[in-house]
Amino acid sequence: MTLPNTDRTIAAISTAYGESGIGIVRMSGPEAKEIAARVFVPYGRAKDPQNQKQAPRKAFQFKDRHMHYGHVADPKTGETVDEVLCVFMKAPHTYTGEDLVEIQCHGSMVSLRRILELCLENGAQPAQRGEFTKLAFLNGRIDLAQAEAVIDVIRARTGKSLETAVSQMQGKLSEKVRAVRKDLLDLLVLLTVNMDYPDEDIEEATYAKILAAVRGAEVAIEKLLANADEGKVIREGLSVAIVGKPNVGKSSLMNLFLGEHRSIVTDIPGTTRDTIEEQISLRGIPLRLTDTAGIHESEDVVEALGIDRSRDAFNKADLVLLLLDSSRPLSEDDLTLMEAAEGRPCIAVLNKTDLPPCVTESDVRSRLKTAQIVSTSLLDDEGAEPLKDAMEALITGGKVRREEDILVSNSRHIQLLKNALAELKEAEAMTQRNEAIDFLEVNVNAAFSYLGEITGDTASGEIIDAVFERFCLGK
Ligand code: GDP
Repeated sequence: MTLPNTDRTIAAISTAYGESGIGIVRMSGPEAKEIAARVFVPYGRAKDPQNQKQAPRKAFQFKDRHMHYGHVADPKTGETVDEVLCVFMKAPHTYTGEDLVEIQCHGSMVSLRRILELCLENGAQPAQRGEFTKLAFLNGRIDLAQAEAVIDVIRARTGKSLETAVSQMQGKLSEKVRAVRKDLLDLLVLLTVNMDYPDEDIEEATYAKILAAVRGAEVAIEKLLANADEGKVIREGLSVAIVGKPNVGKSSLMNLFLGEHRSIVTDIPGTTRDTIEEQISLRGIPLRLTDTAGIHESEDVVEALGIDRSRDAFNKADLVLLLLDSSRPLSEDDLTLMEAAEGRPCIAVLNKTDLPPCVTESDVRSRLKTAQIVSTSLLDDEGAEPLKDAMEALITGGKVRREEDILVSNSRHIQLLKNALAELKEAEAMTQRNEAIDFLEVNVNAAFSYLGEITGDTASGEIIDAVFERFCLGK
């Protein structure tokens, strides 16, 4: 792990690449203010009109947390780069916990790069990925789970994803994890003194006491894990494939899904000619929808390709929506697809219920035991609603969440919680068998340590480095 080096001042472009109204170059470290003073010329200190060179500069005195207007110029040539606003924030109450400078210029890549270059030429070093946030963590401003949430906030695609990430960034998960760790620490102290000083007059670690403490921690972790599946989907999104033979209503369904989300939809060219992927928000849950439509040709070859592609979708997607036409008898293709769907996460959509029925839900049920079945007419504007209800229920497991419930969304955290729980279950079993305290202490200690990896209290440098490598430059 790279430890914070207090001598190092880092700089990076912190806004997105491309054209935009404004862009920000950020510097953090002990020399940030001096370097900024070398490249920033405040308003009113004009160039010397005689020789077109910059008049000799006195070191500019930045006021803490004060927006200064001026321009950035090359101190060697006096050449003006851009008109800017510059702010200096004194340590320790800054994002990184160090002195911090932000230069706000126009959002042109040339201007941003030139300003960054000048900062580097004048003493700063290029920041590594996520280094600003890593500094915040290493300087104790935020813990590891909070730092990880920063990237989730940046990448959030729906309101719900953002809400979950912000709650974690504010330390809600860390708070719960710390509370469990505190209880486990009390238990560890009790176990240790009983192991080390069995003859002293100290609080006795009875098996009943140990069991109560272990069970208490288990319940708290189980509660955190209860909504983890939903949390993970909200953070990572869910890939959903729409499959079915031609003319069952796949495009109609796609259009209904997209209709209300047109403004936020992005087209992503699919891997195959006839597959399109669209990103939508289903009541706050980010979905990647793959439509295997476009296979309208009646030639057998193309039809076969369509069925193959649909089969492929069953293997790749997290959830498959299998469309069937209720107004026509089930065809060979329908039966093939139903067979492929058996045992997989699938909702069978029995479409065209506005027409005289030919296939009923029980016909589908007799062939497809595991899938949920939703009957609807996609000609109706509200036709996708019963399907959305079913999808939402599937994702949330039908549970109604309370406002204060925490959504653990990060796979790393979920795995660590599961590891801690497994250790506690082991400790519980040993307690019930009245095994020696020394033995069960090992498991309680391991659980304590796994939980510490979430907040970063016990995470190794390697883990910490790996976490920050996922960040973008300038964050
Ligand atoms: P795809 O080939 O699976 O993409 O199917 P489309 O969405 O293109 O639909 C095929 C035809 O069925 C179109 O003419 C739709 O208007 C029609 N259709 C779709 N859903 C329904 C429905 O619920 N009821 C009726 N009567 N027609 C529908």
